[in-house]
Amino acid sequence: MLQEGQTDLNSLFEKYMNNERIFKNKDVLRHSYTPKELPHRREQIETLVHILVPVLRGETPSNIFVYGKTGTGKTVTVRYVTEDLIKISQKYNIPVDVIYLNCEIIDTQYRVLANIVNYFREESGVEVPLVGWPTDEVYTQLKKVVDMKERFLIIVLDEIDKLVKKSGDDVLYSLTRINTELKNAKVSIIGISNDLRFKEYLDPRVLSSLSEEEVVFPPYDANQLRDILMQRAQEAFYDGVLDDAVVPLCSALAAREHGDARRALDLLRVSGEIAEREMSPKVTEKHVWKAQEKIEQDTMEEVIKTLPLHSKILLYAIVLLDENGELPANTGDVYSVYRELCDYLDLEPLTQRRISDLINELDMLGIVNAKVVSKGRYGRTKEIRLNITPYKVKNIYRFEETLRPLISVSMLKQRRLFYG
Ligand code: ADP
Ligand code: MG
Repeated sequence: MLQEGQTDLNSLFEKYMNNERIFKNKDVLRHSYTPKELPHRREQIETLVHILVPVLRGETPSNIFVYGKTGTGKTVTVRYVTEDLIKISQKYNIPVDVIYLNCEIIDTQYRVLANIVNYFREESGVEVPLVGWPTDEVYTQLKKVVDMKERFLIIVLDEIDKLVKKSGDDVLYSLTRINTELKNAKVSIIGISNDLRFKEYLDPRVLSSLSEEEVVFPPYDANQLRDILMQRAQEAFYDGVLDDAVVPLCSALAAREHGDARRALDLLRVSGEIAEREMSPKVTEKHVWKAQEKIEQDTMEEVIKTLPLHSKILLYAIVLLDENGELPANTGDVYSVYRELCDYLDLEPLTQRRISDLINELDMLGIVNAKVVSKGRYGRTKEIRLNITPYKVKNIYRFEETLRPLISVSMLKQRRLFYG
């Protein structure tokens, strides 16, 4: 017998167990899943195949620079094509290796080179430690292990812009020139970038060898996203579970986000999860709107977590003003609360001018809204509002050592008002 206040665990789980009717295979909606077909990327696939096919005739393919915004299918397309290339090269006994490196994680010259050496560790017996060797030595080893036999090596540097912004383009300079130092092997590079202006960061010599060929991935429109989602939805959901309006709505919302297929897939997956949790037998438009809200909030929370310290303090000043019903506020108001908070944390405050810039940054990130209004002959001033609920910000700061003391600070603010 259960005592009062106790719950019957079995029934708790059973309640959800019997509602397993939404997802047939949720993995299909994950980012890492490579579908059998890629709708609306035929042109890009053909171009890539065209550039890479010389390998099968024993010629070195050109380096390729792939770019387009996030979620335009760059990673999945390059993987799709290179996996096929591996398959066909095995069939014809042509030695092709493809090394895929995600430079968001592998973001230093040392790590890029070490990962390439270690890819061949079984063959060469050489393994580079994660840190510690002189970079020159890693590069020398790289040439040695790559050149051990005749082969074509294709190195995919995904999110290459992250590598260059963090560590410069030295490693690209070496890699694009490596063929002149090899006798047996031939190396080609595929660089993938989300940042269209990334080229400006490159030394012109690196740029010209890296972009021997360029492949552009334009954003998807709502109709194209719909085709992509339909294909995935058929495998991911049970028949009849999705309302007809769901896929078009996910596609339309993601098309507004610069045609991001990742966002579209996230919307579809989260909609299904919400429907499941609500024990709804169907996924409806209502669930998509909830999913949209949840994803936006989650993204904003991620952005807030990665703000620099003074932007976080500044944001907290705006949160306090909000809690006291003092928004919209102007830069001066925000600055004075910010300064008090710096005092409280024993930190040197930034100048008001710098804070004004940081307010603009928060505005661009969508966390606050800073509208410039004209005050007639008094000039112009900013009206600052908050775009996230104060308790969400507090929840984030609660887990951060330096900022946790701020959670108790609303008192300080009230005292200021009291004496003010
Ligand atoms: P990018 O690398 O350009 O940011 P991804 O290749 O990671 O984009 O694609 C994002 C998500 O959308 C992945 O889950 C991918 O499988 C899916 N996707 C993108 N384009 C297509 C397409 N044409 N067909 C099917 N799925 C796609
Ligand atoms: Mg990618």
